[in-house]
Order: sequence, then structure tokens, then C-alpha cells
Amino acid sequence: MIHPASVTPADKLREKLPVSLKRLADLAYNYWWSWTPERLSLFQTVNPDIWDQCGHNPVALLEAVSYNRLTQLSQDPHYIKRVKALTEEFDRYMAATDTWAHRVAPQISPDRPVAYFCAEFGLHESLPIYSGGLGILAGDHLKSASDLGVPMVGIGLLYRQGYFHQRLNRQGWQEDFYTDNVFEQLPLELMKNAQGETLTIELQVRHRMVKAQIWRVQVGRVSLYLLDTDREDNDPIDRWLTGHLYGGNQETRIAQEVVLGIGGVRALEALGIQPGIYHLNEGHAAFCLLEVARLEVQRTGKSFYDIEASVRDRCVFTTHTPVPAGHDVFSADLIDSYFAAYWEQMGLSREQFLALGARRLGDPWEPFGMTPLALRLCRSANGVSELHGHVSRKMWTILYPDRSEDKVPIGYITNGVHAPTWTAPLIADLYNEYLGADWQNRATDPKLWEKVDQIPDQELWWRHQTLKERLIAHTRATVKHARQERGEDWEYIQAADRLLDPNVLTIGFARRFSPYKRGYLLLREAERALRIFGNADRPVQIVFSGKAHPADEEGKRIIQRLMEWCRQYPEILNRVAFVENYNIYTGQKLVQGVDVWLNNPRRPLEASGTSGQKVCFNGGINCSVLDGWWCEGYKADANGKGLNGWAIGENANTSDQDLQDKIDSESLYRLLEEEIVPLYYDQDANGVSHGWVKMMKASIKTNAPAFNTDRMVADYVAQVYAPGTKSGLELTFASVPYAR
Ligand SMILES: *Cc1c(COP(=O)(O)O)cnc(C)c1O
Repeated sequence: MIHPASVTPADKLREKLPVSLKRLADLAYNYWWSWTPERLSLFQTVNPDIWDQCGHNPVALLEAVSYNRLTQLSQDPHYIKRVKALTEEFDRYMAATDTWAHRVAPQISPDRPVAYFCAEFGLHESLPIYSGGLGILAGDHLKSASDLGVPMVGIGLLYRQGYFHQRLNRQGWQEDFYTDNVFEQLPLELMKNAQGETLTIELQVRHRMVKAQIWRVQVGRVSLYLLDTDREDNDPIDRWLTGHLYGGNQETRIAQEVVLGIGGVRALEALGIQPGIYHLNEGHAAFCLLEVARLEVQRTGKSFYDIEASVRDRCVFTTHTPVPAGHDVFSADLIDSYFAAYWEQMGLSREQFLALGARRLGDPWEPFGMTPLALRLCRSANGVSELHGHVSRKMWTILYPDRSEDKVPIGYITNGVHAPTWTAPLIADLYNEYLGADWQNRATDPKLWEKVDQIPDQELWWRHQTLKERLIAHTRATVKHARQERGEDWEYIQAADRLLDPNVLTIGFARRFSPYKRGYLLLREAERALRIFGNADRPVQIVFSGKAHPADEEGKRIIQRLMEWCRQYPEILNRVAFVENYNIYTGQKLVQGVDVWLNNPRRPLEASGTSGQKVCFNGGINCSVLDGWWCEGYKADANGKGLNGWAIGENANTSDQDLQDKIDSESLYRLLEEEIVPLYYDQDANGVSHGWVKMMKASIKTNAPAFNTDRMVADYVAQVYAPGTKSGLELTFASVPYAR
């Protein structure tokens, strides 16, 4: 059994703090604080400037702030009271034994937790080891597992430089750059062995042995373990194995996935953790299956084919990618150079090994696919929305030649979001008042959300307006800073102060700028868009944010076109803004402050999408192509008029991309002109649109109970983690109602 070092980093921090503030160290070292209503102010109060400079990292803040300031705070009765109240809540949370999982899923024992593997985790902006949707989903999964009391540990990689940062140059072209994460200043703890030495695991990467150390992050009751190869005793090249998220080439990719999958299993073993279930969140981690099998072969002395079923019994897989090209594959050459010694240890020949990852059997040039590997060696597989389940079954029929498409064993569990993380405290207050103080624990109950009707229209409207003002303030500040950085004219820099207007209908569009997300769709007919946005009486404004992958030239061109568009026409100069470097912080500001969330991917390429779900919890309204989760979320009346949002393109589908763009942009313009703009500006003497508020309430009531991660994790528990759940096919496709 491995013990953390006797003196933890939290202990060290605690020592430096004045007596009445010592417990701040415990809060700082557990991300639980980041989903409490105090998250905006508890640490910010200590020193707002340092708080911003250190990227909202409480450990760095408490290390950097002057002792004078700490002493001052330690004598402020009001602040001490706040710290005390939150600490008591924290202690209650951590000690609770009567959790939902304890009552409903006692078969998942803390001694045999679920090990949740993912290449990225998006927990908070201060820990930038995520790129986008997959990582945020993984972070929200851990948070809900903690809230529900599901025994779980996370396994991932600790990237020295994470994902790239984005900045646009004066030509509107995206430039990519990286900055170092300083692990010692983050809420991380390096795991030690009983002798107090750094705990390491070893693995072979090509011809070299590489050592990885393990850091722990606390996410409420869940521990997330992150592997890091940046050690002095590694070859300089290998120190960069965990350097960048999704950087480098195929060689980097396979090496990282070896560290994640094989290293992850070894780390769990070194930590004395025996998972009951291995959950592979996307194919990146699928090498984990090989290591589980290899250990079993070594332990039992049996052949791979004799123990294969016991591996499958313990492993489950979630796929996230609706296009074949998005699934990781490695050439047989690359597999040879990484696994030649390994398949022997599994008791397999080269052909037998390669067959585990083949899409088509018997083809010697067939590359090794992580998804086929996962589908072969997991007892359960699921997509992340109903539509994505269909798409996945169709895509993978090739692996099941004796089955019809609808019998391919891939089910679905629709993604959700962690409500306390994404709901603005200003709106959470309203829920406390009108839904009850325990609303967060009952987020899956539709009856609870019916009470949203009791919130006075005026109240919801003005709170939302306030959040919109905060979004605008954030946008102005970041745009102004960006213009300064890229050396724009003084006048243009100052003009950032006039960007956007809180009284104007505000659209948000933030996501990866992949061509399939069609960030250009709104501008397809520039003149028409200009008439909508530049309208003098009933104007519309939009905030864009999002990165293009460094290798995605087309994505970068889309961003550039947006930047050109908004500089070209004086009528809309203040109505279009692009916030650089999309991250969790900007994401929160956006989903909490916009009136309408726009999503217009090329169907069915959005597996689920989650940002539109975050919007619902804050009273925002979705206007989206019927793809991913919105197929399930959107509700219309008998005449096809949207009740809780809008559907772009009305399900018309063609394989002609230009034609599809034309249909969808036409539909989007018409929705804006005929429905969205008139409804928003139909305001009473107090400036409130009651029709709009009705739609806001419908957006909350219909979507909140279904699209949260408590429902999602409960579905995983009931349909995937529970012993005896065999495959996606046996999933009951309706979610199980429950109360915690
Ligand atoms: C929610 C979120 C995403 C996921 O967005 P989708 O486009 O809905 O997949 C990506 N990045 C950030 C920062 C987010 O908060």
C-alpha cells in the first residue's frame, strides 16, 4: 500500500497561513470549491489582481499574496465567517456516507472503484490540460461521480504545456503558442511511496525504458491521477512525451497513448488501487485493455484467449467520434516498433495481435485501430447521443459481419453537463429560492424544474441582463487587451470600450473552428446578415470564440473571414466580437450571458455537443441544427413551431454540401428575421419581453432535468457499470428516474 508523503503540499501551505485562515489550504487543494456559489469571490477577495494574474489558481494566489494582507483578512470577522461556513460544508460533503450511490449502487464498492481513463480533463481554467468538449465532459463526469458518491478514480496525463494558446495577428490569422504549467504551484500532489520517495512506474517506449511519476488532483471525493514523464532520469525526448495535448505526429500520439493506457494501469497497480471497472472514455486509452490482458496472462499462466472474457467483463467503452477519420489508427509499422516485445508477453503472435485492432481481417496492410480494439475487448460500448448511437452502429457494422446494423452492440448515453459548475451563482440563487435549497441534489427530477414557472418574469429577465453585462465587460476587456498586444491603432484599441450593448439581442457562437462546425454559415449571404445585425431598430450582436487545430488551415481561414467581416462594415463594428483563446472561464461567461446559443454543424457530425446544454441552465435559448443532443432536447408544437428553442434546417438533408449550407443559412436567417428578433423585442414598458421569458423558462424546464451529468452518471451506473450489463444493445434506452 502506498502512502502519500507524510507532509503534503496542503500541509505546507496550511503552515504559512494565519490561524483563522488555515482551512483555506484544504479548500485550495480540492477543486470542490470551484462548484460552490462562493467560487467567484472566496479567493478573489484575497487579492483580485493576483487572482486574475495567476489564472484563478488558489494555491498560487495564497503563495503569492503578502503576509500583511493575510493578517488583515485573518482579523476580518466577515471573511472568517465565510471561510468557516464553506469549510463546514466541505467537511460535511467529504464525510457523507449516505450518498446516492451508496443507496442505489452498493455493488460498486470503494475497494473496487471505477477507473475512468481519458486523454484530457477539463476541471477548471487553472488546470489547462484539456482542449475542448471531451475534456470538459470528463471533468463534469468526475464531479457528478463525486456528488453522487460513485466510487471512482480518474486516470490521465499531466501535460507540461497542455493545449496551445491562441492569439490572432493583425491579419486575423491564428497564431499558436504554448506556456509552461508550473506543477508545484498547482493544487497537485506528487505521489510518494512508503519511504517518502517519488513513486514511479516504468514502461517501454520503442527501445527505451521511460519512467513516469504520478500526481493527484482532488475533485471532491474523487481522486484524479495524472502521469508525467518530465523527469531528469528520462531521455530528453521522453520528457516531452507528456509535453503537449494532441501535439506532434503519429509517433507522439502512439507514445502518449502507451503512457496513458499501459502506464495508467501500472500507475493504479503501484497505487494499490484495484479497479472493478475500467471505463475508456474515447479510444485514446484503449491500450489499457492490452495491459489488463497481459497482467492476467502473466498472473494465471493461461492463454490470451482463455482470459479474454475476464478482460471484457471489466472493461467498458464510450466512443465520441461520428466520422471514421476521427478514430485513432496506427500503421502496422508503428505498431511493430512499439509492441514487438509486448505481444510476446501477451502470448500472442504478430498476426494475432494486429487482428485485435483491425477493421477488416486478413488484410496485411490494415492499420491498427483503437476503436476496433476497444469494441473487441469491452463488454459494453456506447455513443453519446441517440443519433450518435445510430451513426456508430452504422459505422462499425463492418466489425460484426453476422449482424444487421440495428443489432450492432453499441448503445448510447446522452451527454450532460455538471449543473453546479455551469449555472451562474446569480441564477443558482433563484433556484435556491424557487426550487428549494436542495435543487442541486435533485437536478434530474422534472417536477422540481416545473417550479421555474413561479419565478417572476421580471426577476429572471434582470438577472439574465446582469449576466449579459458581465459577459460584455469580459469581452471588452479581453478584446481591448488583444488589440493592444497586436499593436493596433490607438483608436481601434479604444473602440473596444464601445463593443456590444446590453440592450441588444445577443447570440453566442463558441466552439472549435473545424470546418464541419460551419462557423462561416451566418455570413453566407453577407448582405442579408448585415441587414439583421446592423438593423437600427432591432439590432443583433454576436460573440464568437474558439480555436482551430494548429494543423487546420481551413479552420484558421474561417476565423480570419469572421475578423475581416466585422472590420469591413461600420454598421456592425460594435456588434461582432471575437474573444481569443476559448477556455472554461470564457465558456462560463458566454453560456451564462448570451440570449441565444447558435450551433450549426453539418449533420450528423456533432456527436453530442454540451455547450448548448450549459446555456439552458442559465436561461439561454438554443438555435441549432437538429444534431447531437438537440435532436432529443428540441420540442415543437403541432405546427412545428419551437417551444423551447429553434431548429435550423428542419431536418432537410442532402449530401451536396453547398446546397445544405444554402438550406441551413436560409433557415437561420428566416428564424432570426421572423421569430427570434420579433420575440425578443416585443418588450413591455419595463423592457421585459414576456414571450421571451416564457421561452427561457421552457428552455430550463425541458432541458435541465435530462442534460445534466447526474442523470448521465446515474445512467452509466445503471446501464454500464452495474455487473451483468452486457453490451450497449441491452441498454434500456430510457434513462432511469431517481432521486438522490
Ligand atoms: C463546453 C465546452 C466545450 C464543448 O463544446 P461543444 O461545442 O458543445 O462540444 C468546449 N470548450 C469549452 C471551453 C467548453 O466549456
